Amino acid sequence: MSDVCIFCKIVDRDIPAKLEYEDDQVIVFHDIAPKAPVHLLIIPKVHIPTMMDVKDDQFELIAHMHKVSQILFNKLELAGMRLINNCKEKGGQEVFHVHYHLFGWKAED
Ligand code: 5GP
Ligand code: ZN
Repeated sequence: MSDVCIFCKIVDRDIPAKLEYEDDQVIVFHDIAPKAPVHLLIIPKVHIPTMMDVKDDQFELIAHMHKVSQILFNKLELAGMRLINNCKEKGGQEVFHVHYHLFGWKAED
């Protein structure tokens, strides 16, 4: 955990977020500036700065984040979704705690 990281602060409940899902490894909350009808952030509870910092023994955690996207697709009754990881500043990353954006659309969107 990093005490300067905004997403670690959300994990620790030091700053509020609208939570959608939580388990022992990840939390999922709504993006503060949504860019799709559903815009969630799937983050690991452990602080990993970027996808390029994921260690070999942490890829099960990354796979679990994909499993969680399936759980959310069903929970929110989505018709379509897009998972995006922005990696490093050149890749558009602004918060350096690894995350997937989940953009979702319902049938009526
Ligand atoms: P990035 O550009 O790093 O891939 O995306 C970071 C995302 O985090 C952005 O879409 C931004 O709107 C979101 N974000 C930044 N600060 C906060 C916050 O304090 N709360 C929430 N819920 N989202 C945030
Ligand atoms: Zn962090």
